[in-house]
Amino acid sequence: MSEGPKVIFEETLVCPVCKSKTFKAIDYLYDTPHAGKLILSNWYCENCGYRFRDVKPYEAREPKVIEMRIENENDLRTIIYRSAFAKITIPELGIEIEPAGMSQGYISTIEGVLEIILDKVGDFCDKECENRIRLAMEGKIKFTLVLEDELGLSFIKSEKATVKPLILTNSD
Ligand SMILES: [Zn+2]
Repeated sequence: MSEGPKVIFEETLVCPVCKSKTFKAIDYLYDTPHAGKLILSNWYCENCGYRFRDVKPYEAREPKVIEMRIENENDLRTIIYRSAFAKITIPELGIEIEPAGMSQGYISTIEGVLEIILDKVGDFCDKECENRIRLAMEGKIKFTLVLEDELGLSFIKSEKATVKPLILTNSD
């Protein structure tokens, strides 16, 4: 018996291009006879028309750690989706952002993520730390971006990104 595609994820996000909250993110699960289960992402901005499409093999949405080394301007333009459940760490810049602070996920480039962080750093970042983030945005500092996502929804669209299972540590 064949089944049609099933919607497995649906959220309205802020568009990475026009910044309006009209970016409809929808993921479909396809069960194909030859390629197995695939996830098709069709994300589209109703305001400016920006589109993000992607096809990838279906993996269980389990806790995972995604890591990528950012070494040049090309890496900075990599598309990244940070779900609302992901923690961001950039050890070289002393950045650690817990998921609880964000009510919603966002899609952006790595450079855009640094910009978002720079907007919100106020409390934990002094002038020197701000300068380092700016240098990183210009590709003058190499750094590692780590996403720890308990729901496994986040992704970094690059072959350089590595994905490992996240071992959840429980304090009790
Ligand atoms: Zn847009």
